[in-house]
Amino acid sequence: MNNIEIQKLEELLKTVFDFTKKQSQKFIFNIFKSSSEDIDQICNQIKALRNSIKKCNICNRYNENTICNICLDTNRTKQLMLVGNSLDIDKFENIGLYKGKYFVFDQNISLKNEDFIVSSLLEKLIDILKDKNELILSLSPTIEGQFNMHYIKKFLKNKINFTNVFQLSTGIPLGSSVEYIDQDTLKESLLNKIKM
Ligand SMILES: [Zn+2]
Repeated sequence: MNNIEIQKLEELLKTVFDFTKKQSQKFIFNIFKSSSEDIDQICNQIKALRNSIKKCNICNRYNENTICNICLDTNRTKQLMLVGNSLDIDKFENIGLYKGKYFVFDQNISLKNEDFIVSSLLEKLIDILKDKNELILSLSPTIEGQFNMHYIKKFLKNKINFTNVFQLSTGIPLGSSVEYIDQDTLKESLLNKIKM
């Protein structure tokens, strides 16, 4: 079917949610099958969810509060783990091996132009590291992720006196995302973290 409304929705799903063509088609087919009451309910629930979620002021994790429960937890170690998104925090929390805090670095660094969001993230990171004794860079080992980790390590070297920087071991296949790695592999790569 080649309908203008389908095209518009497909475009939105792609740009906003990063849906593949196949995911969009499945989603749109489900809309055909749904009643308008169902669609209203879903739209309202999406809005309600969006309005209830905030970014933690300290670590940038999506949660219900301005400061998340992990940042408020005084029993955490002085380690900091840099992750690519909030979902990765849940992944590491489920393993139960890591007891430090987190920082969500959800931007890609570009050398081409000065990026205000990236600069403020880096400044925030420096500030948080002041009372930490270890940093574990756990961004996904994609090309962008690896570049970001090297850039951050280099950036920190010139800014603060901080030597304990690690990254996850190569147990994680290159090009893959932390999000899709099984728990055992992730556990291994955390246990065998490499000094950068
Ligand atoms: Zn937090």
